Amino acid sequence: MVTAVSKAGLLDLRAGDVERCVRCGLCLNACPTFRVLGEEMDSPRGRIYQVELADRGELAIEGDFTLHMDRCLDCRACVSACPSGVPYGAIIERTRVATARPSWLERFLLERVLPYPARVRRAAGLLRFYQRSGLQAVARRSGLLEWMGLAEAEGLSPVIAGGESYDGEVTGPVRARVAFFPGCAQRVLLPELNAATVRVLRRQGCDVTVIEEMGCCGALHVHSGMREFARALARENVVKLEAALASVDAVVVNAAGCGATLKEYADLFEGEPEWEARAQRVARKINDVTEFLDDLGPRTELLGPLPVTATYQDPCHLAHGQGIRNAPRALLATIPSLELREMERSDQCCGSAGTYNLKQPEIARALLADRLNVIAASGAEIVVTANPGCQMQLASALPGRVFHVVELLDASHRARPR
Ligand code: SF4
Ligand code: SF4
Repeated sequence: MVTAVSKAGLLDLRAGDVERCVRCGLCLNACPTFRVLGEEMDSPRGRIYQVELADRGELAIEGDFTLHMDRCLDCRACVSACPSGVPYGAIIERTRVATARPSWLERFLLERVLPYPARVRRAAGLLRFYQRSGLQAVARRSGLLEWMGLAEAEGLSPVIAGGESYDGEVTGPVRARVAFFPGCAQRVLLPELNAATVRVLRRQGCDVTVIEEMGCCGALHVHSGMREFARALARENVVKLEAALASVDAVVVNAAGCGATLKEYADLFEGEPEWEARAQRVARKINDVTEFLDDLGPRTELLGPLPVTATYQDPCHLAHGQGIRNAPRALLATIPSLELREMERSDQCCGSAGTYNLKQPEIARALLADRLNVIAASGAEIVVTANPGCQMQLASALPGRVFHVVELLDASHRARPR
């Protein structure tokens, strides 16, 4: 349940959230930014203390305060580590309404492009033209990208392959009817991941419809302090999800950040009990694809061998945000000949964190370097994860070696001897 809001302070915090912190410090070593920077003010405990001061008007909401809030990944590793149940995600996301200063480009993309699937496709077409026409090489040589502050984003963009297309047929008797939410940017950045997700669900006996008309879920807006815009998106999406749920058993999502946001829509509707209740009803039907397939029980007789050693990187918003750790591992364990080798601190953020790798590139690079070390130490040939953002971040350093869990299930289906 969403608790009452304290309007007494300067920040729009929920009553009682920051007061739950007893300053024990048990979250410090779980915090990636504390591990990299070694500063109390860049730890969960330090940030909560600063938020308390700022809320009471004893610390200016600018300068260093904004810097330390901006450096937070919103990865929620501190939530998993905290024995007092401090809802840190709600604290930082609400604080960011006052601290975030989205750039013109971020605002344009978040408000004018991502909510509209047709505009996302047109933007992808332009990016594809840029990548294939020779313009990319010219821009990289000219220094123009650095001048415009776009070098980091441009370097992380995957090659845009083509449009979305879904294939595959339901195998055997129908075991479930589901609606698949294809996301916003990922439908053009990683269309093969969405196609693999639908194929796997169909192969496992699910009758799948794709919610084509649904745009952005609002996760990036929530993380960027744009809660009003996120609320407007959530309102539209609750209506679309209710319509989809009239004819299916569940909504399936393959992006951990989107899944966590959709499950937490009710938090955006405090003071609006009717919308809060509708959001909670919808949230009960949202499933990450790994939890859905694990609950369904994969038909292992359909899986063929993949002789490979793999290590699993927990996406923050799956492990810490949704508490899903076992389902992806259980699915990987069903694939014949695949050997899973755990990496150290597998649930530590890779540095992707929505658009964090674009806004805080130095810290993001340090976090990625840490992941590359533990991945190498695992001795695994490939890395598996369950979130498109993590996939792109890791693949930027390990091209051709990073896969989503459903992509491996898809490959395993194809490897089954006929
Ligand atoms: S959300 Fe992540 S980066 Fe932010 S304080 Fe918590 S553990 Fe640290
Ligand atoms: S957030 Fe939790 S773990 Fe961290 S200092 Fe506060 S009470 Fe302790």
